Amino acid sequence: MKLMVIGCGGVATVAIHKCCENPVFTEILIASRTKSKCDALADKLRDKTKAVLTTAAVDADSFDSLCELMKQFKPHTVLNVALPYQDLTIMDACLECGANYVDTANYEAEDTDDPEWRAIYEKRCKEKGFTAYFDYSWQWAYRDKFKAAGLTALLGTGFDPGVTSVYTAYALKHYFDEIHYIDILDCNGGDHGYPFATNFNPEINLREVSANGSYWENGHWVETKPMEIKREYDFDGVGMKDMYLLHHEEIESLAKNIPNVKRIRFFMTFGQSYLTHMKCLQNVGMLGTTPVHFEGREIVPIKFLKALLPDPASLGPRTVGKTNIGCIFRGIKDGKERNIYIYNVCDHQECYKETGAQAVSYTTGVPAMIGTAMIASGTWSGAGVFNVEEFDPDPYMDALNKYGLPWQVNENPVLVP
Ligand code: NDP
Repeated sequence: MKLMVIGCGGVATVAIHKCCENPVFTEILIASRTKSKCDALADKLRDKTKAVLTTAAVDADSFDSLCELMKQFKPHTVLNVALPYQDLTIMDACLECGANYVDTANYEAEDTDDPEWRAIYEKRCKEKGFTAYFDYSWQWAYRDKFKAAGLTALLGTGFDPGVTSVYTAYALKHYFDEIHYIDILDCNGGDHGYPFATNFNPEINLREVSANGSYWENGHWVETKPMEIKREYDFDGVGMKDMYLLHHEEIESLAKNIPNVKRIRFFMTFGQSYLTHMKCLQNVGMLGTTPVHFEGREIVPIKFLKALLPDPASLGPRTVGKTNIGCIFRGIKDGKERNIYIYNVCDHQECYKETGAQAVSYTTGVPAMIGTAMIASGTWSGAGVFNVEEFDPDPYMDALNKYGLPWQVNENPVLVP
């Protein structure tokens, strides 16, 4: 099967490593903005795989650039591991060229001052009650187009979203009659030794963390100030950590796809030093997305900051410690209350030894490959736009064990107040 991967950053590096291990992918085109990165990765992997690897430069913001390449290569499926800004352009190109589409993050506008985008955004904030810059409405609006074309678009097959939603589908299938409460806990106990760095794309990461939090309760969104809700949790493999409630995209799709759910929350761990740095950068305007004039040219503060911060792809050799990401479910089975916790513990250095990337890229890149393989092999099929929890979780859960993200089930977890 012919796969085209767009992007060649931290997540892509792991996803491509893993695609090379899976015989369902026979030809892989690695296409990104900087071709030299694609060439370096392909050179590293060629000896280790039976898949034929080729590379190309592509501007994923350009429909024409994407179509030109896709018409030459004729991919069965496109895995988008570039940035969420490019989601819609890549989906349009897939429709035009007859390819299935897979990604790990929902659409986000790059220019949040664009008046056309802002008008739609502000209407959505009022109607839905959360103010995050990203939401699924843009991509769900493609459902009829993908249906009519007989193509599949699979959204959000990273870890969170992705594995967390598959865990939910698995818990519902095997452990519950109804799930009422879902707490998604994302803990990174890794230490890279820098005073401040982000584990994935700084622009995307800092926007997410500095935004208002929100959770789903009794059929509507409850919004909080950034970092307003804090809890402590003792994570297996990591230990006690502070974690904060954030808005996160899988809450939106799980609220729609899991019947009878009463509350869904998402927590992520942050150290005090990270939060102090971020607050300071925010206070001085370095997280701004509006261009400012500086010495005769325009610069976007957050893009300039990105240029100063360590490249997330370079954190691999320095990062030690573990991640622990999972979901605590509360619900009923055979009329009785039941609680379970499904989670994965991943070691940064082991990920680095295997792929050259740290665990945050690894825990996203492995499920990106698995979701793509589900579509490529026809294990998951259907015409339209889907989130991962809409399919049978069992083959995906088996693949997580096989490809490096084994999961555990705790049937008596400590609950989050
Ligand atoms: P990186 O910034 O490391 O990589 C992004 C890659 O996309 C780079 O290779 C970059 O090229 C390329 N790119 C950017 N713009 C364009 C463009 N216009 N045309 C072609 N290529 C482009 O990001 P990550 O690997 O950390 O993240 C990748 C994706 O994964 C993001 O969408 C992120 O939100 C998502 N993610 C999802 C998670 C989940 O659990 N679901 C968790 C973490 C990340 P260049 O090398 O030239 O900069």
